[in-house]
Amino acid sequence: MPEGDTVFRASRSMRKALVGRVMTSTDFRVPQHATADLSGRTVTEVVPRGKHMLTRTDAGVTLHTHFKMEGTWHLYKPETKWRGGPAHEIRAILGNDEWTAVGYRLAIVELLPTAEEHRAVGHLGPDLLGPDWDLDDALARINAKPDLAIGEALLDQRNLAGIGNIYKNETLFLKGLHPWTPVNQVKDLAGVVTLAQKLLKLNCEHWSQSTTGNTAPGERRWVISRGGQPCRRCGTRIVTGMQGDPLVARFTYWCPHCQPER
Ligand SMILES: [Zn+2]
Repeated sequence: MPEGDTVFRASRSMRKALVGRVMTSTDFRVPQHATADLSGRTVTEVVPRGKHMLTRTDAGVTLHTHFKMEGTWHLYKPETKWRGGPAHEIRAILGNDEWTAVGYRLAIVELLPTAEEHRAVGHLGPDLLGPDWDLDDALARINAKPDLAIGEALLDQRNLAGIGNIYKNETLFLKGLHPWTPVNQVKDLAGVVTLAQKLLKLNCEHWSQSTTGNTAPGERRWVISRGGQPCRRCGTRIVTGMQGDPLVARFTYWCPHCQPER
């Protein structure tokens, strides 16, 4: 499940493989860009913004992609077999002499002028993993809706960018917060945001997305995807519910003992 840390790591790999190199082939498998061709152009930068990735070129054109739930970029050497999924799931291909980057199941594949990137990512709050992270700005944005449930506020990328369902659930467990606690009743909002950022940063270094510190399969999470199983701290069964507007509602997991409703 891609979150800010996944996009951050993917961007780092893409940067190493693509930046400073001339593209020898490109293929955008979305109707609006089916005939676009950026071959002959050089990739100048790959930038993660929350769950968005911006691949900039010297054509003054940026490729904007979004990972959503299932998206991923794979990098292949010429002799390697492509293993990211069936061909119909490929949304974009960027090739140079050494590497081919293949984007599978990307929710957004959009070419836009680099000068107009704000159209794609301008709505995002401060990026938890970005160089311009601004805690005060993020807190102000969250506090602007004081009655909203903290679980919803953390997922809203307009407040702060990078937290997905995993880090939302795990952070709330570690802070002993019931997911429906209104923002204005969260005593240490800065501590909540800072902990989510810490978990994301720790996982920028490896792919396991462990929040427990244990990387063994089945031991990586405190509550998420553990509905009905015993809490690792107190043994109470983890419960689940849907949180958020019906159109965007996500499964939420919590321990009724460690995260009591106040
Ligand atoms: Zn518990």
